[in-house]
Amino acid sequence: MSARRPPSPSALVVATASAIHGRGVFARAAIADGTRILEYTGERITKAESERRDQARIARARRGGDGCVYIFTLNARTDLDGRTRRNIARLINHSCAPNCRAEIDRGRIWIFARRDLAAGEELTFDYGFSFKNWETHPCRCGTARCPGFIVGAPHRWRLRRIPRSRRLAIAAAARGQISP
Ligand SMILES: [Zn+2]
Repeated sequence: MSARRPPSPSALVVATASAIHGRGVFARAAIADGTRILEYTGERITKAESERRDQARIARARRGGDGCVYIFTLNARTDLDGRTRRNIARLINHSCAPNCRAEIDRGRIWIFARRDLAAGEELTFDYGFSFKNWETHPCRCGTARCPGFIVGAPHRWRLRRIPRSRRLAIAAAARGQISP
């Protein structure tokens, strides 16, 4: 009954087909800048288990299966695997010019609006991937400053040093194999 409890995810957002990738999450109505929109839920796992699952994901993607990354870094010891149907936030796509941000608060991950969102707008955040394995995460966000791959903003300059023609060729090859 607490007034400070955020509304259930379905009150603010809906999951449906996305122009960026697969299904995405969209604002049902206008959402104000700074709103805590929904929680990114999942299973708490050790770094060792996280690494094992990531290797399994890469192997799966190489066989043409689901290569999506749902694992989130919580802290130095624990990650959160959001690969569960109940976690609607797992469907939020990455953008290189995102309108939301993920924030960790006392061991829980929340998606906040980082500007005003219009009704029907797709929610996006920066997945913040490291530069490692950048070739396996092509980006389709379509924003002006997109370097063609999903890499966290602090590392994007390293991607831009790679010639655009080479990045495009690698992205085309990766799309046939591994999807972000
Ligand atoms: Zn992008």
